[in-house]
Amino acid sequence: MTINAAVIPQLEQQLGDLARQLDADQLHWASGYLAGLAAAGRQNEALVSDSNDRPVFTLWYGSETGNGRGIAQRLAREAESRGFQVELFSTADITPRSIAKLTTLVLVMSTHGEGDPPEEAQALHRFLMSDRAPQLEDLSFAVFALGDSSYPDFCQTGREFDERLAELGARCLLDRVDVDVDFEAEEDQWRSELLGHLERELAPASTSTTMATLQLVKGESQPVHDRRNPFLAEVLEVSPLTVSPSTSSTHHVELLLEDSGLSWMPGDSLGLWPQNDSRLVEEIIEGGKLNAEAEVVRGDETLSVRDWLSQRLELTQLTRPFIEAWAEISGSQNLRALLEDRDALQQYVANRQVADVLVEFPAQCDAETLIGALRGIAPRLYSIASSPLVHPDEVHLTVKQVGELMASGQLRAGVASWQLTERVEPGVQLPVYLEANSRFRLPEDPSTPILMIGPGTGVAPFRAFVQHRQAQGASGKNWLFFGHRNRRTDFLYQLEWQRFQREGALHRLSVAFSRDQAARIYVQHRLREQGREVYDWLEQGGHVYVCGDGQAMAADVHRALIDVVAEQGGHSEAQAVDYLDRLSEQQRYQKDVY
Ligand code: NAP
Repeated sequence: MTINAAVIPQLEQQLGDLARQLDADQLHWASGYLAGLAAAGRQNEALVSDSNDRPVFTLWYGSETGNGRGIAQRLAREAESRGFQVELFSTADITPRSIAKLTTLVLVMSTHGEGDPPEEAQALHRFLMSDRAPQLEDLSFAVFALGDSSYPDFCQTGREFDERLAELGARCLLDRVDVDVDFEAEEDQWRSELLGHLERELAPASTSTTMATLQLVKGESQPVHDRRNPFLAEVLEVSPLTVSPSTSSTHHVELLLEDSGLSWMPGDSLGLWPQNDSRLVEEIIEGGKLNAEAEVVRGDETLSVRDWLSQRLELTQLTRPFIEAWAEISGSQNLRALLEDRDALQQYVANRQVADVLVEFPAQCDAETLIGALRGIAPRLYSIASSPLVHPDEVHLTVKQVGELMASGQLRAGVASWQLTERVEPGVQLPVYLEANSRFRLPEDPSTPILMIGPGTGVAPFRAFVQHRQAQGASGKNWLFFGHRNRRTDFLYQLEWQRFQREGALHRLSVAFSRDQAARIYVQHRLREQGREVYDWLEQGGHVYVCGDGQAMAADVHRALIDVVAEQGGHSEAQAVDYLDRLSEQQRYQKDVY
């Protein structure tokens, strides 16, 4: 390869201008993109281009766990291969007002928590629902809504966007589709219908009316393995992190990703397609007097009853559609009444599994009907607890066992956590894939101090963070706030934290063992106690990370941070809230909670 040295300064200037607009993930992608162009001899194609006459549409996604992003990326890839130009953006990276300039918008939108927008779509949601929202008569749109039918407000956010866009005068191109966590078949059907519609709608000469865009699709290197095509990772090790009689049995799991072609960064998660335990499967087969070997067709797949139940269907989580179907099958008035009472239903599904419903509301039901009524199994995500710099071919996970084997012999446990902690042994292979999380990233500048708040298994990504910063030789200080029930039984990775401290990779460790004394002490107590230093670290440009329970813990930690900033910075409460909002905007306050 030869390059004319005279053009290098200009090239550096141009690439530098572009690079300053990109975050670390986008830079990473851009390097692969440019390499791809070079390899394909396509160096004359511009990165930013809307000057061709290919039909253009805008595709925005709001994703919490990565499913929405995956669906949007697959749509974009197929659209590009069919001759469209796609302007693909996360709703975190758009200016909400720019919607007024669009002509064709496809929105892939998840619902999070109790019917809330995902964090990255909150600004767009607020703007569109407000009085400031513009009239959108020139816009045509289609919404693909994702949700989880084990929660009451299924696909609520997608529904709200769909209704609001119509209210603002936009024209619906294709009826909204609402999908559950087993969305694969509906996604494929929607994608092909939508592209058919767009081909008819969009004249080839239409050009983009939005700002110049970085096309994150073209040339994107697609991993060989993903959710649709998982990699079979060998289990290397499963070892306990807690000591009996812990009430929170937790294990360290190591998986081999050698030769997978997968890459990841600290902050990312591993998706695992779990398998139901044979005890639970046999309980359902015997209870329902089903012929385990009989073949049953569902969608375009034919499997034996046993294989459907162990590999393909969700048995450990209940959903409203299943309760509706079972109320019909069993004719139970009690189940019908439960469906009318939102709170009672929510409580019921949170504390039962499919097998419990079959026992509590017995009914004659053939295998086809039962298999048709159940939801497809969905992968489970675990925060990666190791750094790729330290373990380039492995990912480590921190897995808490959920549920129990009851004295009756019935298993009522979480499907993946039970499989990982009780059933798998070294040598077994598990189907896995990587789920990137660009909103939970170490600071680009290695001299930046970081504060990590991770009670329980929420500590997992921080093991990856500290390993990574040590391997990078990062000079920034690291402070970990860890909480659990008892020091003796639940101090996850205690020896490793102590080694990191000795080696100068962990500068402060604040622990809160909630049940080692009469009154509960949590990580937020430690934040308050050490408010002066916490505030100093923030004032030094520190980044704050919170991982773990998204209900009580994340809210209580947020409250404590407001108090610390107000007290130590001499701010009013409103100013302290603004201070933290600014940290979030600057991506210096990041959460990975659920
Ligand atoms: P946990 O239930 O969160 O308990 C850990 C410690 O937190 C215990 O000492 C507990 O005390 C305490 N705690 C309870 N309420 C609290 C509050 N309001 N504020 C602060 N601390 C509080 O631990 P875990 O069982 O290991 O569960 C961790 C949670 O993190 C799970 O919900 C899991 O799903 C989530 N998680 C999320 C990610 C992610 O990627 N987003 C990764 C890993 C784990 P007491 O029990 O004594 O009250």
